[in-house]
Amino acid sequence: MLPERMIKQLEDIVGIENFSTSPVILDAYAFQPFHKTEPGCWIRRPVAVVLPASTEEVQAVVALCHEHGLKFKAHSTGWGAMGGPGGNNVVQIDLRRMSRIVEWDEKNRFVVLEPYVCCAQVQAEAMRRGLNLHIIGAGSATSPLASCTSHIGMGWTSISTGFSGRNIMGVEWVLPSGELLRLGTCGSSDKWFCADGPGPSLRGVMRGWAGADGGLGIFTKCAVKLFHWPGPRETEVKGRFMDLDVEVPENFRVVTCIFPDAESFANAACKIGEAEIGFMMCKVAIGLTLAGLTPRYLRRIGSLPNLRAVFEAFKHQFHFVIAGNSKGDFDYQNKTLERIVDENGGIIIDISQIPLAKSIAYWDFVRAFSPPVIFRMGGNFFTAFGGDEAINCTVEQARIGEEIKRRFIAKGAILDDLGDNAWGGIYEHNLFSHTEELTLFDHRDPSHSGQVEDFAAACMNATIEHNLGGGGFAFFAGAHVHETLGPVISNYHVWQRKIKKAFDPDDISDSHYYIHAEQKKDNRK
Ligand SMILES: Cc1cc2nc3c(=O)[nH]c(=O)nc-3n(C[C@H](O)[C@H](O)[C@H](O)COP(=O)(O)OP(=O)(O)OC[C@H]3O[C@@H](n4cnc5c(N)ncnc54)[C@H](O)[C@@H]3O)c2cc1C
Repeated sequence: MLPERMIKQLEDIVGIENFSTSPVILDAYAFQPFHKTEPGCWIRRPVAVVLPASTEEVQAVVALCHEHGLKFKAHSTGWGAMGGPGGNNVVQIDLRRMSRIVEWDEKNRFVVLEPYVCCAQVQAEAMRRGLNLHIIGAGSATSPLASCTSHIGMGWTSISTGFSGRNIMGVEWVLPSGELLRLGTCGSSDKWFCADGPGPSLRGVMRGWAGADGGLGIFTKCAVKLFHWPGPRETEVKGRFMDLDVEVPENFRVVTCIFPDAESFANAACKIGEAEIGFMMCKVAIGLTLAGLTPRYLRRIGSLPNLRAVFEAFKHQFHFVIAGNSKGDFDYQNKTLERIVDENGGIIIDISQIPLAKSIAYWDFVRAFSPPVIFRMGGNFFTAFGGDEAINCTVEQARIGEEIKRRFIAKGAILDDLGDNAWGGIYEHNLFSHTEELTLFDHRDPSHSGQVEDFAAACMNATIEHNLGGGGFAFFAGAHVHETLGPVISNYHVWQRKIKKAFDPDDISDSHYYIHAEQKKDNRK
């Protein structure tokens, strides 16, 4: 229950229509089946939901939480459990009323956004200007601000558009104390073109690799880097998904490259990185494609060994999109790709030549509209590993991840997606590589219930045992994992806690997915 006085204060700040304590509304925010290891589809119910419309209102609501000893948790588009309360007495701050594109700077290639602007909106406007943005693998309905400031950031086109944490050009940040801090050039002027000075740069503190997931205050604006877009300014899109009809531009080619084994796959990826070619490169496991497009069919082939073997032959593959900046560039990229694939014993299937596939593949790889189909087969999914490393390491993550999954599939604890369900590719022309092991399950099925926690723990233990790099997505199990991972990864948890304490000594910004100011006996509480 909110104190009576706080209700009156909230009325004064956001207006009576912009907050709620009604159980019906609160439960709508507590239904978050995804990105958590606890069974079921519910997270904790917030004590109130508040919808501020400006930075000043966000500051005032944060100050109120302090005054009344409540925690707060921000969400932008709210795609997962990490955006909701991790415990009791949390005020959910829903930023959907802050939905403006504040500024375009085409010359310096950035756009300034509020939290509830989604990638699809920005992309449509950017393409008209010959520009494009990095879209995370979750797809174009997500908030670029949330990814850039607060939550990981890998995506389909990362080979050319990088990682969300690297695409940020400055932020406006309401600290857990309620004070306002601006990072980057916007900290010392009204210009947003650089995240690292002449104003102060605390980018690493603000977000590090994974982001603080709402555990370090609220970001109310950010500038996001834009990239050259060599495609058309307008794309005519006919039909929807399975009957989509989109013209593939002449300077684009969409292919799938298939290799005999993990080693040749990794070697080819390295060479592609060195050659600095490609607009999009991503392994999408055949099990994932079938689960998304034809889930009933995938359930049937589970028991047909010959058919399984056919699909498993496609295991070491990635999709690749070439976008030529000129005829010469297009030809160069094509020839280079063909040579690299050939030298590594692979084959190229030219999807641009297959009538239906070409539309779906081309437009999906540009727009990332399909990711939510992952929920079709079982209603839920989990993802593990995901620590960004050199490709030899991420290929190993995929191998070990598949082994672990096969054990869980064999005992009926998760759905059978052929075992290999790795997703990822090389980023920034092979500066690093990303692989995550996806797991499909049905949270309504009693035999799957409670298994995700075990699966997440098995993956985290394998990361430590096989030295598979960073902790990756282990934090989806909650802040307590840092106490296990920290001691084997340069004691990062000690430094992370120092940051939390410096910025939020009272632990008011809900840290369920970040780190608590004081180590608790059981961080899950
Ligand atoms: C099908 C699917 C595929 C996915 N694939 C990827 C992927 O490839 N790459 C990837 O990076 N992620 C992926 N994700 C996870 C995804 O990152 C999040 O779902 C994504 O960030 C979208 O969240 P959102 O934009 O809705 O942000 P939210 O859910 O609103 O927020 C994400 C986190 O950031 C915090 N946050 C949000 N806004 C603010 C703010 N203004 N100030 C402070 N904290 C804030 C929230 O508290 C939360 O912890 C996937 C998710 C799904 C469902």
